[in-house]
Amino acid sequence: MSTAEDILKDDEAQIAEVPVEHREQFGSNRIGSVVVSENRVIFLYLTGGSWTQFAEYELSSTPFAQHQDGELYSVFIPAPDGKHVSELKSEYISEIEHETGLSYFMDVLETSGREPAVNPDDCGCSRISSNKVLVEDENMELSEYFDEHEFRFVSCKECFKIYGRYREGKKASLNKLFSADWLLGGDLDVNSIIEVGQQDIFAIHHPPNGSVRTQDAVLTLSHIGNRSSEIISTYKHEYQHAFCYIQDGEMIGYLSWEEHDRGAIQSQLYIREKYRGNGLASTLVSDWYKTVCDSDQYFADELTDGGRAVLDSIGHLDLDSGPAREVYSLTPMAFG
Ligand SMILES: [Zn+2]
Repeated sequence: MSTAEDILKDDEAQIAEVPVEHREQFGSNRIGSVVVSENRVIFLYLTGGSWTQFAEYELSSTPFAQHQDGELYSVFIPAPDGKHVSELKSEYISEIEHETGLSYFMDVLETSGREPAVNPDDCGCSRISSNKVLVEDENMELSEYFDEHEFRFVSCKECFKIYGRYREGKKASLNKLFSADWLLGGDLDVNSIIEVGQQDIFAIHHPPNGSVRTQDAVLTLSHIGNRSSEIISTYKHEYQHAFCYIQDGEMIGYLSWEEHDRGAIQSQLYIREKYRGNGLASTLVSDWYKTVCDSDQYFADELTDGGRAVLDSIGHLDLDSGPAREVYSLTPMAFG
């Protein structure tokens, strides 16, 4: 059922209809929709078989949608509208919870989220060969049986600190995983090595489904950042690109993005702890923009305060002359 056709004006172009579903053990059913047009966001939900409009917001700039494998996965709302849309979304979720007695799925996930039994700083674990080992996949799920070629993290089972990765029957420590020799030694395409004009620094442009070693290194680094709450999302190797910065023989950080007709959508920016405080995040972003970002304009998806400060420091967020624009992503919602 399309609610968008009924709700939009004849001359109003639809950008996307974001589904809101009630997910049950066997299948799911639609309980609401967020209709996004060129200039409006309309929140609706179903009660007693009919649609109720919860809220409507007039946008000041045009949003755009991103699909993966033919399915809508996000609608990007450029700043400054994102803030308001995000607030409306919270109110909308409360209203649906109140009306239906269901719980928003993300909240369910967060409250059942795993807290380590031991604070990493207080944990006595020290190395990959320790016997307190947990083998997790990239969704942080544990499975005893898995294919030998699949990727797994090796982490401490008490504090969840990551020590390396497991693949093809072998463990690789972080030192190995982040070393340039290791990264350059695998199935890396030589064309992915990017000169950035500095003698001791170069970059690797890792495309989706590129070198397995680079993919493992970025995936691991993204989870290290995510576990310490320094980055919000984690790297999605199926469709995101990564720009890995190599200094003095080691990968010191990365930036990830995905392609879109409107311009690259930047996702994560992360510098390893021991390399911080030298302005490397700013040079990484500038070098990425100069060498591999092929659009004049790009979007930054839900920046952290740190990320915003980095982009601000190089003038990228300047509304008149900067190439970057912050976006808020509205994704399909599920209740359970
Ligand atoms: Zn530990």
